[in-house]
Amino acid sequence: MAPKLKLQCCICKQGLDYKPSAPDSLDPCALELIAHVDRDWSDQKSQTFYCHFECFRRLIGDNTLLYIAEPDYSTHGEFQAEVSDEGAEDEEPT
Ligand SMILES: [Zn+2]
Repeated sequence: MAPKLKLQCCICKQGLDYKPSAPDSLDPCALELIAHVDRDWSDQKSQTFYCHFECFRRLIGDNTLLYIAEPDYSTHGEFQAEVSDEGAEDEEPT
């Protein structure tokens, strides 16, 4: 069996484990750094970093930017379901 991947926060350098005792926590988080974002996708580079949400929140220093922390902010699955529902409503009856 492969060893479990050990993630480290790129900001505080501490370990980054999911804490079952804090199910509402957004941790572990990933940051996607995209270089040359002004260019076409084929000319960009990207790298993934990991961090604690709290460390990133402190780094940003502006909670109004972090709508991801809002309880009603959709997960990818919820967003996809909403788009699918809207598409189904737009379909012509057969
Ligand atoms: Zn951290």
